[in-house]
Amino acid sequence: MSSPAHTWSPAHTVSSPTVSSPTEPSRAEPSLTEPSPTAPPSAESRAPDVLVVGGGVIGLVTAWRSAQSGLTTALVDPEPGGGAAQVAAGMLAAVTELHHGEQTLLALNLASARRYPDFAAELTDLTGHDLGHRRCGTLAVALDADDRSDLRELHALQQRSGLESEWLSGRECRRLEPMLAPGVRGGLRVDGDHQIDPRRLARALVAACERTGVVFHRSWAERLTVGRGERATGVVTADGTVLEAGRVVLAGGSLSGRLAGVPDAVLPPVRPVKGQVLRLTMPRTHAPLLNRTVRAVVRGNHVYLVPRENGELVVGATSEELGWDTTVTAGGVYELLRDAHELVPGITELPLTETRAGLRPGSPDNAPLLGPTELEGLLLATGHHRNGILLTPVTGDVMAQALTTGELPDEALPFTPRRFGAAPARPEPTEQPA
Ligand SMILES: Cc1cc2nc3c(=O)[nH]c(=O)nc-3n(C[C@H](O)[C@H](O)[C@H](O)COP(=O)(O)OP(=O)(O)OC[C@H]3O[C@@H](n4cnc5c(N)ncnc54)[C@H](O)[C@@H]3O)c2cc1C
Repeated sequence: MSSPAHTWSPAHTVSSPTVSSPTEPSRAEPSLTEPSPTAPPSAESRAPDVLVVGGGVIGLVTAWRSAQSGLTTALVDPEPGGGAAQVAAGMLAAVTELHHGEQTLLALNLASARRYPDFAAELTDLTGHDLGHRRCGTLAVALDADDRSDLRELHALQQRSGLESEWLSGRECRRLEPMLAPGVRGGLRVDGDHQIDPRRLARALVAACERTGVVFHRSWAERLTVGRGERATGVVTADGTVLEAGRVVLAGGSLSGRLAGVPDAVLPPVRPVKGQVLRLTMPRTHAPLLNRTVRAVVRGNHVYLVPRENGELVVGATSEELGWDTTVTAGGVYELLRDAHELVPGITELPLTETRAGLRPGSPDNAPLLGPTELEGLLLATGHHRNGILLTPVTGDVMAQALTTGELPDEALPFTPRRFGAAPARPEPTEQPA
């Protein structure tokens, strides 16, 4: 571990020159040159109230809402706006993603889904970015008798949970979506499960942060610093820069459990869950191939087709526990195409434009970890697993409240990181991310 070379906190002696490209921040970064001993520290050289580690959608929305709340905010990530959002399908699927035993998570998912229209409008007004928010609904279909009985069970669970979904016969499904295979045996129409383009969302959040005064440090956080009195005080970056802050929010996605310096007792138990995704292009000249998201479970594998207004068709996704491996495999592509073809035979005519794999930040109960930890000054916003795009709006609000009041709002109380005891020891070095 290299020792810190310089700091931008007025509380420390500053000895290194200003950080320069390639880690140059997108806005003016606080000066790192040594201040005159008599001069009062300038506002820019003061440590920010909040430092967010990780610039995926979750770190970005946290930083944006934090800055909007009047807290000076910085964010450290070599590539803000990257992460799992570059791969994700962007389904806002609170109802069709319901699983037995996840009713507590359902409440948070629904709270976020309700926020989406205003959230998207606010982001677009602020940044001018179109987010590809498409209120098209979802159709979950069954291809054989077993699928149909599983889907019936899901329907019953949805009804017990007070959710809106309608059972359709195979013929009714095909009337809605004429390109579906003739073998479809029935389905669930869920008009409230929409979609957004996660890549556009990430870009818009970067722009929103810039406009709200968030300072970007385009580098890697190597280590959390813990000061006297057992309090998180900032991070040391890969080039040895010390970034100090009033509070640190760890939002590193699937890497959140890897930050050195975080005491084991508060280390988030987050693991990478690999997902492979394909992107195809639908011809603009023809009637839309699909009008809404279509999904199914084929031989135990989940498959979905998400049609975007710009002609992109996202086909996903595998779910694999392979550490930090992000290789796109022939088997993964084959299975996705095979299962998608069973649902919508016409897809094999379409150009295949992209194959990619990403990592969901999985947690032991598939729910996020939000808010303060037992280490003073350290908060978590991680573990969003397969719903991080859906949960972006509510996460921003929850984290802003946690940062401004020190308390979680009622809707987020079940997601406190304190629900887990001490995390298991870090994975062996052989499991290090590439
Ligand atoms: C195949 C696939 C399909 C998906 N489909 C959907 C979907 O349809 N709907 C939905 O709601 N969700 C979906 N998701 C889940 C969603 O994409 C994630 O939950 C969400 O993007 C996680 O965001 P994040 O910001 O927590 O983490 P990430 O996106 O992983 O971002 C973490 C960021 O932190 C940075 N970082 C980590 N450690 C450090 C460090 N030490 N220093 C500096 N930076 C650091 C990384 O560089 C990265 O930029 C999908 C995910 C995958 C993989």
